[in-house]
Amino acid sequence: MREKNTVTQDSLLIHNIRALVTMDANGRELHGAFIYAVGGEIKLIGERLPRGLKATRTIDGSGCVAIPGLINTHHHFCQTLTRALAAAANAELFDWLRVLYPLWARIDEEAVNIAALVGMAELMLSGCTTTSDHHYLFPRGQGKLIDAEIAAARKIGIRFTATRGSMSVGESKGGLPPDCVVQDEETILADCERLVHAYHDPRPGAMLQVALAPCSPFSVSPRLMRDTAAMAERENVRLHTHLAETKDEESYCREHFSMRPLELLESVGWLTNRTWVAHGIYFNRAEVKRLGRAGVGIAHCPTSNMRLGSGLAPALALQRAGSPVGIGVDGSASNDSSNMLAEARQALLLQRLGHGAAAISVQQALRMATVGGAQCLGRTDIGSLEPGKRADIALFDLRDQAYSGAADPVAALLLCAPSTVRTLMVEGRVVVDNHQLTTLELAPLLARHRRIAARITGARRTC
Ligand SMILES: [Zn+2]
Repeated sequence: MREKNTVTQDSLLIHNIRALVTMDANGRELHGAFIYAVGGEIKLIGERLPRGLKATRTIDGSGCVAIPGLINTHHHFCQTLTRALAAAANAELFDWLRVLYPLWARIDEEAVNIAALVGMAELMLSGCTTTSDHHYLFPRGQGKLIDAEIAAARKIGIRFTATRGSMSVGESKGGLPPDCVVQDEETILADCERLVHAYHDPRPGAMLQVALAPCSPFSVSPRLMRDTAAMAERENVRLHTHLAETKDEESYCREHFSMRPLELLESVGWLTNRTWVAHGIYFNRAEVKRLGRAGVGIAHCPTSNMRLGSGLAPALALQRAGSPVGIGVDGSASNDSSNMLAEARQALLLQRLGHGAAAISVQQALRMATVGGAQCLGRTDIGSLEPGKRADIALFDLRDQAYSGAADPVAALLLCAPSTVRTLMVEGRVVVDNHQLTTLELAPLLARHRRIAARITGARRTC
């Protein structure tokens, strides 16, 4: 029988969930549980389904573990076009960048849109409901590349924080990138402002936010960092950049600014809780404390850090000091995968390798990939499953081969090889159903992506 009062708005009921991992403040885990959401917001969760509760869509969660949708805090989608490139396969960051910059100089709106769709599709199939992307490459004549990523997010249905990256110091001025991929600072700032005004939605439940993100100490000027921080303050948006990723970066900062990377960050007004930085490997103890006191967030990118041989980030010490710590898959030329569940597993394994098995539990690793990620992106409406939060939910089927025989649902997700998500909901909308995306057809997208990748990696050097 249809009950008028419960079906007038889009509502969702997931019941019979074997294990519901709330990631709330008490770390509650419910069994034989249900989640009820209306209009994209969770209204009720529990173990005893109220009689007569009906929804416009009902999903049977038998055999499944439900977790908050994973949150990716650092990526470069356009790098899906230059994955596993032989010339960059065995290099450290600066040499790796020198190989890739000239290829990235060939991107256009179509390439960025298709690359973003592929990266987002991979993330979603791994249980990710919210992602950021740090796009900082704007070859001449290619101004609307963030718009192309935003169009991709809208099409595929993922929650998105677009970060408007930038590079303004090319080789001729002592920076690392070639001059053909840097922009002048007035153009950068004007586009940042345009994007914030056109797209940033500060409201709870926002599907789209914009943050400002000069690329790194070796590709922008302190003046641009300062002006960007002032704009972020004025517009009330977040700040993001790469920091303390390698020893080479530290040497560059000493040589060019006579400062350590964190001193540079502080000198340009970025040591605030508006900021989250990617990597954060080379901080000393006093710096970890300063970051924690200021509430600067860290996007921990374990696979990228191992792949490039960059180092082990003091993620747990930063967390203890007070910094929000989330997880990032990082760009697809240094991972070379956009699997958020695999990345949470890598964070667990890498931190254990560094500090022992007791240093981080499977629940803590999952917390980094959910609650920690939400904090980095400055959001209080996502990251946990409880009434009042958005209905961003990932259901993994514990009957999949990868989990077969596993006793504990959370341990299974983090310790076994990751399976694809069975069902994924963003804002209460089913975007992955039975391991397949519902919002687009994957095969033609991948065919188009391969064609663009071949064009970008195949042509002769253009700059
Ligand atoms: Zn990065």
